[in-house]
Amino acid sequence: MRVLVTGGAGFIGSHVVDRLLADRHAVVALDNLSTGRRERVNPAARLLVCDLRSARLDDALATARPDAVVHLAAQASVPRSVADPRFDASVNVFGTLGLLDAARRAAVGRVVYVSTGGAVYGDTDVLPTPEDHPTQPASPYGVSKLAGERYLECWAGLTGTPTLTLRLANIYGPRQDPSGEAGVVAIFTSRLLAGVECVVNGDGEQTRDYVYVGDVADAVARALAHPDATGVVNIGTGVATSVNDLYARLARLARVTRPARHGPARPGEQRKSVLDAARAKALLDWAAATPLDAGLATTLEYFSERSHTTLQQATHGGRGLTDPATKETRP
Ligand code: NAD
Repeated sequence: MRVLVTGGAGFIGSHVVDRLLADRHAVVALDNLSTGRRERVNPAARLLVCDLRSARLDDALATARPDAVVHLAAQASVPRSVADPRFDASVNVFGTLGLLDAARRAAVGRVVYVSTGGAVYGDTDVLPTPEDHPTQPASPYGVSKLAGERYLECWAGLTGTPTLTLRLANIYGPRQDPSGEAGVVAIFTSRLLAGVECVVNGDGEQTRDYVYVGDVADAVARALAHPDATGVVNIGTGVATSVNDLYARLARLARVTRPARHGPARPGEQRKSVLDAARAKALLDWAAATPLDAGLATTLEYFSERSHTTLQQATHGGRGLTDPATKETRP
């Protein structure tokens, strides 16, 4: 089938593009390259550089003629949503609405929306959290992602198009940006490799549900293969891992003995988040397949090859980055 992947130049979106190509779908990535990067997009996919909020979106869909849309493009930073909630809403609410409107005009037959578990459930003692747990977002990002879900459900009812929301846990893996405030695996990994001390916010006993990015791409592939699956599905491992435990695992893999330093706790940071993925198993026959240590080892290898390549480029003026996640050489 022809699939349009919004946010296809992003961290998760680029892995989704790779997986759908491997499944022999024809894939078009749509991205405004704000946090996405052109070089992440598999050359076998077409990249349309376009903003979700642009008047050119109809033309983009007319060009792509997708049977299905996977919607990942978003303002995905919680701190940025707190600092600038209007911008967050403009991308996550109005951008999503614009996409749904254009998808209706282009008669798209299936929409898979990538949302977030932790940020829409908020802090809760019901762990692992199931889909029917009340939502209580504590950030503008959680509110805007939830608004996207509600518009999607409404749109499904109005158009009769089957839609599915995937509420992701905390995703990690190759290509995650280590320069932001989120993405603790990428941040710790790049600092450990650079020999720089890692800082754990607060006591480090806050827990998260870490899912390897390849398993998310697998969930999206299954969502497209099961058009009868509708509603909301959690994508998580059901396993809670503390930040202290995560650091210990990464440090062991990187052969670093230095302990992390504990900094001040982040105000408003969620204490616990872990998702119940039983519905994903029932509807999509999906379960996380990558054990945490294996996923962390692959991620470490990716960042270590990259830092090696960057060093070589700096030393020898070499060109061409080999991306170990895809084994491709890109111009
Ligand atoms: P990312 O920032 O790498 O990807 C987002 C992509 O969307 C980028 O390529 C960016 O350029 C693009 N984009 C942003 N605004 C756009 C616009 N107005 N028009 C077109 N493209 C635009 O982030 P990610 O971590 O890969 O997140 C992808 C999706 O997964 C998001 O919807 C996010 O809410 C969701 N999610 C991520 C996580 C996680 O742990 N990373 C967890 C839960 C949910």
